[in-house]
Amino acid sequence: MLLMAPLSFGAELETLAARSDVQEAFRYIDATSDEAEARLIELTEIPAPPFGESNRAQYFAYLLREADVDEVSLDEVGNVIGRISGDHGEPVLALVAHVDTVFPAGTDVKVRRDGERYCAPGVGDNSRGLVALLLIAQAIEAADIRLGGDILLVGSVGEEGIGDLRGVRHLLREGGPRIDEFIAIDGGGSAWVTTQAVGSIRYRLKVTGPGGHSYGAFGLANPAQALSRVIFYFDQSAHEFAVTEGAKATYNVGRIGGGTSVNSVPFEAWAEFDIRSADPDRLAQLDRIFHASVERGIDEQNRRRARGEALTASPQRVGHRPAGETVPATPLVQRILSVMRYSGIEPSLREGSTDANIPMSLGIPAVTIGGGGSITGAHSLKECWLDRDSEIAVKNALLVALMSVGIEESSLIGL
Ligand SMILES: [Zn+2]
Repeated sequence: MLLMAPLSFGAELETLAARSDVQEAFRYIDATSDEAEARLIELTEIPAPPFGESNRAQYFAYLLREADVDEVSLDEVGNVIGRISGDHGEPVLALVAHVDTVFPAGTDVKVRRDGERYCAPGVGDNSRGLVALLLIAQAIEAADIRLGGDILLVGSVGEEGIGDLRGVRHLLREGGPRIDEFIAIDGGGSAWVTTQAVGSIRYRLKVTGPGGHSYGAFGLANPAQALSRVIFYFDQSAHEFAVTEGAKATYNVGRIGGGTSVNSVPFEAWAEFDIRSADPDRLAQLDRIFHASVERGIDEQNRRRARGEALTASPQRVGHRPAGETVPATPLVQRILSVMRYSGIEPSLREGSTDANIPMSLGIPAVTIGGGGSITGAHSLKECWLDRDSEIAVKNALLVALMSVGIEESSLIGL
């Protein structure tokens, strides 16, 4: 992807990074890596399944309070929100890390050491993001940095899967707190910026019928067989569409279930579908393919039946993430690219599906960046996080945040 020539933040960055309070914050980040790893383990070992984030959220709120962040509280949906107030109260930058994981309740989240790596489900995505957010808050407080505008620190709920971005959707509701710019810290890495939001639509399709004995009631319309037809037609048409020219478009049948026993015509069968694209038109076309496949598959199965009632199919939309973009020329993106280059990193622009989808779709400048270190096996039970130069990502995020909200004369300057 084309990276625009950077706006000239070079001089501003030189001055900023040379300040004694900023240097002090950097020293703090370097000196506290052992504590940061202890927090990483603690946060990871508190389960945070979708819709079950509250224990981890409470603990994260406690950590922010310990760091002297003001006004730390949980909002109506369970987001943790704290504020580092600046002298002017504006602009407001939201720094957001999601609290939830993809793993269901009951998953073993005990952290194991594997050489230098920390291994446990969710350790990188997104315990590391939470730790990066915490380090930024601690460093600002420890170095007594006086901000111009405010930094809103948010531990968001419901970023993953069925959470459907409900935390950030609520945060950015009408009448919610003022937010002028939005940075999500998600997972590891320090050399990428997500500026394009991949949109997605998800369905749970349930097919129901009378059900009965496989021998005695043979001839009933069969929900499992109908569902198989739906999936077949969907896979066939969606595949053909996905490989055509244009923005990337993908589809997936992720879960499938139903039935009573091997010798029963099921009364119910269900499956979950996921379709994605960063292009809203391509997304809408895949959506039409899905609905057409449902109609065709169910209709064919109904027409084959020799007895009993017709099947009914009810596709329930269980997720919708809007597509969107923060164009590279946006000052927020240019600041981030400048800071990364300043630290010797050559950044790349990415697309993804994160908390930043919501602000992007609302026209609020928003990106997602990494929390440092490197992750392997994200979203798997074998997930590990390795501390490789992770402090660079935190320092860079701090610099970007300071450029966003401005920094005042410090009491440390001139000492
Ligand atoms: Zn994540």
